[in-house]
Amino acid sequence: MVKLENINNIFLSDSVINLDHGDPTAYEEYWRKIGDRCTVTIRGCDLMSYFSDVNSMCWFLEPELAEAIKELHDAVGNAATEDRYIVVGTGSTQLCQAAVHALSSLAGTQPVSVVAAAPYYSTYVEETTYVRSGMYKWEGDAWDFDKKGPYIELVTSPNNPDGTIRETVVNRPDEDEGKVINDFAYYWPHYTPITRRQDHDIMLFTFSKITGHAGSRIGWALVKDKEVAKKMVEYIIVNSIGVSKESQIRTAKILNVLKETCKSETENFFKYGHEMMKNRWEKLRGVVKESNVFCLPKYPEAYCNFFGKTLGSYPAFAWLGTKEETDLVNELRRHKVMSRAGERCGSDKKRVRVSMLSREDVFNVFLERLANMKLIKSIDL
Ligand code: PMP
Repeated sequence: MVKLENINNIFLSDSVINLDHGDPTAYEEYWRKIGDRCTVTIRGCDLMSYFSDVNSMCWFLEPELAEAIKELHDAVGNAATEDRYIVVGTGSTQLCQAAVHALSSLAGTQPVSVVAAAPYYSTYVEETTYVRSGMYKWEGDAWDFDKKGPYIELVTSPNNPDGTIRETVVNRPDEDEGKVINDFAYYWPHYTPITRRQDHDIMLFTFSKITGHAGSRIGWALVKDKEVAKKMVEYIIVNSIGVSKESQIRTAKILNVLKETCKSETENFFKYGHEMMKNRWEKLRGVVKESNVFCLPKYPEAYCNFFGKTLGSYPAFAWLGTKEETDLVNELRRHKVMSRAGERCGSDKKRVRVSMLSREDVFNVFLERLANMKLIKSIDL
């Protein structure tokens, strides 16, 4: 595997480029320009206690982060924060597992089935199988799910990997049996039009994909039900006794700058991100059109309440397909491009997930390789 930290030093034209992970380095340039306004100074005597707010149910949540999260959602209009509990996590990866644990532990019978509609975010499979819990069981594609008993549906919208807008697909008359976790990692204006203020029972967000600060490992859940929130907090206590305060303070600082600049004409991060993503998608669509062997999903336009106009969607991943009978992940690898196999996302060999969030030079090398790629038939029918 290519070491990501070397990517700037190696001669890109001949190196392997890794677009398997969605490492969001694309936004570094913006934050470099913002300069010292996001700098946080932490002294040796600061932030030493385990506790952030002993009066709060989520006692390891820094109050200034809680405030910054609420204000940002208010400014963007993408999610309701009133009358809910905020649970902070080490990335939304930890929170998704906490939510699955919480809902399963509160269910009448176990194991609780966990499903997501294909193509799904492949990490859900690892998250729900790795520890071999007896409380829940990964049951795969929600489109095919017809098992009796309690279940949890993971709904990602916009979806990773294919960028579509999603709702639940399991249709059960007995509503009590089904619980939903809404993963809104990409429901931000640079990726998709903000058409409504989301108002679901459990909503997950991640700092990683809003601003690109994946290294801080901060995510949050907005949770309506007190018992569910309590169980999620319990899970995080057992798992890591809370969440890094340094990370929370830095996140609060950056979210505040994000909110302050989000109405500015010149410094609006979302406008910057939207233009960058639109530009990348237009270039990619151009190469795909020329190639005649690749294909991409089309996305409808919608009115974005944040930007106040009708816009398209520019997802963080390209769900690239081929018309040829070929194993696309292998073909890309042959041309030194690492991508995520469609099969890992519950789809097939003719599709891959490619990150659109790499640094600009890496993205341009990807386009160049794609444009010059000759595919070899490798699937036996
Ligand atoms: N959900 C989705 C849909 C994601 O794409 C990601 C990041 N790849 C996550 C959750 C996890 O994000 P975090 O970095 O906060 O763990």
